[in-house]
Amino acid sequence: MTKTIFEKTVNNISTKPLFKKTEKYDGEFKRVSKLNIPEVSEIEVMRHYKELSDKNFCIEKGFYPLGSCTMKYNPRVNEEVVNYEGYLNLHPNQPDEDCQGALCVMYKLQEAIKIITGMDAVTLQPMAGAHGELTGMMIIKKYFEKNNENRKKVIIPDSAHGTNPASATMAGFNVVEIKSNEKGLVDIEELKKVVDKDTAAIMMTNPNTLGLFEEEILEISDIMHKNGSLLYYDGANLNAIMGFTNPRVMGFDVVHINLHKTFSTPHGGGGPGAGPVAVVSKLAEFLPVPLIEKSGEKYIRNYDRKHSIGKVGAFFGNFSVLLRAYTYILMLGKNLKQVSCDAVLNANYLKEKLKKYYKPAYETKSMHEFVLTCENLHDKNITTLKIAKRLMDFDIHPPTVYFPLIIHEAMMIEPTETESKEVLDNFINVMIKIMNEVELCPENFDDYPKTTNVRKIDEVLAARKPDLRYKNE
Ligand SMILES: *Cc1c(COP(=O)(O)O)cnc(C)c1O
Repeated sequence: MTKTIFEKTVNNISTKPLFKKTEKYDGEFKRVSKLNIPEVSEIEVMRHYKELSDKNFCIEKGFYPLGSCTMKYNPRVNEEVVNYEGYLNLHPNQPDEDCQGALCVMYKLQEAIKIITGMDAVTLQPMAGAHGELTGMMIIKKYFEKNNENRKKVIIPDSAHGTNPASATMAGFNVVEIKSNEKGLVDIEELKKVVDKDTAAIMMTNPNTLGLFEEEILEISDIMHKNGSLLYYDGANLNAIMGFTNPRVMGFDVVHINLHKTFSTPHGGGGPGAGPVAVVSKLAEFLPVPLIEKSGEKYIRNYDRKHSIGKVGAFFGNFSVLLRAYTYILMLGKNLKQVSCDAVLNANYLKEKLKKYYKPAYETKSMHEFVLTCENLHDKNITTLKIAKRLMDFDIHPPTVYFPLIIHEAMMIEPTETESKEVLDNFINVMIKIMNEVELCPENFDDYPKTTNVRKIDEVLAARKPDLRYKNE
């Protein structure tokens, strides 16, 4: 690949340190020698970044069935709203009366989340799903403290998302894991064995990371509540149930949702996101400050809350993500239910079509995602990773692999609701083609992918000694 003028200029410069000892100053701080920075035209800079972005894979380029991540199309109207000048130029420290519009949006988003989750009060402050989990668990902690109870144990099924045990531990709880039964669901008998007076809560992902709905959820909530314990719902992937049911109906007390998944914000690479937390009324007093409230005709930020856990982030959360989510909710209204219909339909369509060729971890009907296993291909020296790498040669982003941990050689597929039947059929055909290659020439799989900018990498070296500088060979 030829170097662009930008790279030549930048590379020449960057071999020398930017602030050399030889630079001349006027005796104090003002530099009198010329600043040693690259001089390139605007269009060269633009081409440089365009070329970089072309090397990347994104939802705008192709199918991205990354299980548990909901990599779906994010409507462009969201971006238009986010760029309205009135929102763009707001400063978070402006007084309430100067930002009524923004506060109104946040208030109404809180109200919408109450309807969607069935809960009584909402904070928009947490900036990611895991951050919402931590906030929720801190609220649970504070609830027991106020009741003069020192419950230390949090039960987490082995099919929960990996962030759950981390969040519970950070909030100061001891995590007890329970194993799933042969159906991939919470084993009620196992649960009964570990529930005791030290149990503060159970943290559940529902549908769990196997893509399965917890059929005995009402019995589970009954067991917990009878014990004085609370139920935490990881609702990061609400596109499985939205509009059909909600965590409140299932008996949960706290839920976080990922606006950057279900409610459409481009995400990946660490942000930005938003993980609002919704709670039942008895936990509302512990929510972080400020809450956005309505006082007469005015919207206000209320900091005056005696039992609040305090602040969990600077200002009020990632406002632009909140704005996108609110736009998305207003656009769809009651059709949010259709989102869930299509997400579940697409996942089950793929699963049914693929199960002749790949082994599903569980045969039962899935929700918005499902898990396959390539365990049975070991005798051909084929692993899930090799299948995933081969998919890249067909311009398809690999699904999530080796997660959930409880399935050997797992491949977790989430097509999302925004893909057409044609895209799904193409994926099915590619997966069948790859399985034919596995039968005919498994040895070729050591060399895939063949067509990507970066070929097969040494994953261990990459993890141990990351070299993050951009190099142009
Ligand atoms: C994505 C996800 C999370 C974590 O969300 P982040 O925004 O990445 O912190 C937690 N639980 C589930 C089920 C998820 O899918």
